[in-house]
Amino acid sequence: MLTVNNIQVYYGAIQALHGISFEVNEGEIVTLIGANGAGKSTTLRTISGLIRAKSGLIEFMGQDITKTPAHKIVKMGLAHVPEGRKIFPNLTVHENLLMGAYTKSDRTEIAASLENVFQRFPRLKEREKQHAGTLSGGEQQMLAMGRGLMCKPSLLILDEPSMGLSPILVEEIFNIIQEINQLGTTVLLVEQNAFMSLQIAHRAYVLETGRILLSGTAADLQANPKVRSAYLGDV
Ligand code: ATP
Repeated sequence: MLTVNNIQVYYGAIQALHGISFEVNEGEIVTLIGANGAGKSTTLRTISGLIRAKSGLIEFMGQDITKTPAHKIVKMGLAHVPEGRKIFPNLTVHENLLMGAYTKSDRTEIAASLENVFQRFPRLKEREKQHAGTLSGGEQQMLAMGRGLMCKPSLLILDEPSMGLSPILVEEIFNIIQEINQLGTTVLLVEQNAFMSLQIAHRAYVLETGRILLSGTAADLQANPKVRSAYLGDV
């Protein structure tokens, strides 16, 4: 479904990605793990067209999207839920969700998407008319994910959904990610919380300073001594 081939990305003179390659197959949850500054968010932002690769190739659903503008990539069925959620605090929950459906014009389809999101996130339904800025951190993450789902993506990209959440909420969010996947959405998940993301992912890639250091099934990486000591807190 998604193939990233040898992308190199720079911020000015500084090289952030030194030739990253990986793939996401239909139906999978794939996770990219790595420390702060490893290049995880840069990789996601390059895939969704928010920044440009200097070289390399990105294909989504068999089409070259390396130079495709971000809004067209969303229309093709790829939704990106950014780090820090980036919800609109002064708009209501309902209005924020509608923003996620901007690629759609069919009202019946939008209403059905909204119903579907409310089913997945009943708490958002309860708070439909509330300003998004008044939601708790966990609810804001649900809203950001709900907004991403409003365009009915085939690939949902999540950047650090666990950031700033209590362990119980992290577990709830990760359960929801798994449910979304089981209902047919492919997921690319970026996380510093390697412990949780390896529990729900099928496959994983470890990033370090803009390079892929290791890759394998989530079970293989969970058992890998290097991953255990560097990312899973084993001593
Ligand atoms: P984090 O979890 O902290 O976001 P990350 O793995 O997502 O980490 P990136 O945010 O992709 O890492 O950053 C990769 C590298 O690129 C880092 O060295 C970072 O300092 C640099 N970088 C990121 N954004 C910019 C920017 N807008 N301008 C210059 N350098 C940047």
